[in-house]
Amino acid sequence: MTAYIPYGRQDIDASDIQSVIEVLQSDWLTQGSATSRFEHAVAEYCGAKYAIAVSNATAALHIACLAIGLGKQDYLWTSPNTFVASANCGLYCGAKVDFVDINSQTYNLSVDELEQKLVRAAQLGCLPKVLVPVHFAGQSCEMEKIAILSQQYGFKVIEDASHAIGGKYRNKAIGSCEFSDLAVFSFHPVKIITTGEGGMVLTNREDLYEKLSRLRSHGITRNPDLMQGEVHGGWYYQQLELGFNYRMTDIQAALGVSQIQRLDKFVTRRRFLAQRYNHLLQDLPITLPYQHFDTESSWHLYVIRLNLDKISKTHCQVFEQLRQAGIGVNLHYIPVHTHPYYQNLGFCHGDFQKSEMYYKSAISIPLYYGLTETDQDRVVASLQEILH
Ligand SMILES: *Cc1c(COP(=O)(O)O)cnc(C)c1O
Repeated sequence: MTAYIPYGRQDIDASDIQSVIEVLQSDWLTQGSATSRFEHAVAEYCGAKYAIAVSNATAALHIACLAIGLGKQDYLWTSPNTFVASANCGLYCGAKVDFVDINSQTYNLSVDELEQKLVRAAQLGCLPKVLVPVHFAGQSCEMEKIAILSQQYGFKVIEDASHAIGGKYRNKAIGSCEFSDLAVFSFHPVKIITTGEGGMVLTNREDLYEKLSRLRSHGITRNPDLMQGEVHGGWYYQQLELGFNYRMTDIQAALGVSQIQRLDKFVTRRRFLAQRYNHLLQDLPITLPYQHFDTESSWHLYVIRLNLDKISKTHCQVFEQLRQAGIGVNLHYIPVHTHPYYQNLGFCHGDFQKSEMYYKSAISIPLYYGLTETDQDRVVASLQEILH
């Protein structure tokens, strides 16, 4: 009766299964026509010119950084309130990573903090080459302000939109790259749409698109126009740079092609459930998610913050009691700079205090397309009982 309610999960229907079966019964399983159909569908949905499907968003972030030319001595800046992959991609390129603390309302990277840090970095001669703003929980960062700063200080912008496909900024789909060089999506099963594992990079720049296509597949080209010297024959290809095997399979892409047809339906349902939480939870001693007027979130996560001065329990106790009640709560995110690996790079507790404060009271409660109102009522009732 009291089944476990996870914090997020995929929705797979008969059309998804049929789409994957068709690829399995075809002659082609790896990157092929289903992958290009998926790329076109996502690019069209977002209003971006180009899309490159890859094996996961971590790979997408890695080749996005390489395409920008991030390397040794360069700096990548991102938010501490994110999954480690948003920062690790800089380290993969041999670059240095630093963080910009969050806005305590949106939990996104703070544009004011960014501006102050840029002023200091300009004086010290250590401006970043790349900024990775993360659209936390599916709510866009303040992209226009970020774009203006990027012009002023000469850095490139890679949006980590892993949470945010289906969301909007100023009435335009996130992923349009109107205010960035590149944007990255994740299709991990807890995200808005899934391919099992999968990721994508979007851009409006043809040069970046060409580079990303090569980096996804060993740095190899089959385009004679790009080759050096003579073309030997029909079998011929050349490796022009050091790339990877980051391809998506057509099996995965077929699932993506089918899932994206339900994307708006998924987001509409998530928005409905979020508004229902807003209403049902309004009298509890918690802070509900704030929405900036420029944004329409895809609602990847619904994060509450405990008003601990009004509650007789600790953050940890509330979390554990929810789990014991069969509510699959989670915590997004442990501030990246506090992980032992990043501490060994020289970061300290206290370096980014707003994200650390946030971490001490945040809880992600269940939100996904298939969450029933009965399940949601159970989440609310458990919270009421535990926080009474
Ligand atoms: C999920 C996620 C990633 C990594 O995505 P994968 O597809 O699992 O590699 C990166 N950044 C953020 C913010 C994420 O939530």
